[in-house]
Amino acid sequence: MPFFDAHNHVHLAGDGPRLSGMLGRARQAGVSRMACNSVEQKDWPLVADLSRRHPSVHACFGIHPWYAKTAAGEWLRELESRLLATPSCLGEIGLDRAVEGADLPRQERVFSLQADLAERLGRPMMLHCVRAWDLMMARLRRAPPGRPFLLHAYSGPAELVPELAGLGAFFSFGGDAADPGRIKLRKALAAVPVDRLLFETDAPPEEDGCADWYAEPAGVVRVVDLAAKVLGRRPEELAREAWRNGEALLRGLV
Ligand SMILES: [Zn+2]
Repeated sequence: MPFFDAHNHVHLAGDGPRLSGMLGRARQAGVSRMACNSVEQKDWPLVADLSRRHPSVHACFGIHPWYAKTAAGEWLRELESRLLATPSCLGEIGLDRAVEGADLPRQERVFSLQADLAERLGRPMMLHCVRAWDLMMARLRRAPPGRPFLLHAYSGPAELVPELAGLGAFFSFGGDAADPGRIKLRKALAAVPVDRLLFETDAPPEEDGCADWYAEPAGVVRVVDLAAKVLGRRPEELAREAWRNGEALLRGLV
């Protein structure tokens, strides 16, 4: 059965044996598609190259809110040409009030230009939103409804899920929901409609050598297993639905 890792950064493993090991183990585990998200402009050539060489790697180009400061020069023009050259998404983009030294006005400017571009080109956005739901909702409510986008590592309240789903949201979750202490997260997971649910590894972890079991794309199989336990579902069913949901999110691009 095919699995989809809806959000990762495998390019950060470098273009060498570590990356080829990860991709090989993913293939063996049945992970036949993954959304590889750049975080800043200098990632774009490698992400484009990986998606050309590996059919399982789906390219996402964008500037992550933590890297908003690096957006300089002709970045927006280059972003548009990267998107036009590859059937790709905008990602990882968004807003983060919790990151140390957050320059929110700058984040908002960089995010809003990228969201406009996604709208103009009709490409899905892979969104990061941490403690900035007021601003994020205001932006999403202004967009034409029904265009698919992904809220990666969804951390918002369960109560927002129906409105977000109406606006076109897909929601992805990592392994954290397996922790019984994460009550808000588990409630949100249970609130997501079955046709909008996705799973991710966000691999590789920020710190090298971190031994998280889901530290690479193959780990998404275990993420699905854990979510199935939380939801009282069969993992095969959940994986099948998540695969279909991935096709719907990436419609016309895969
Ligand atoms: Zn990420």
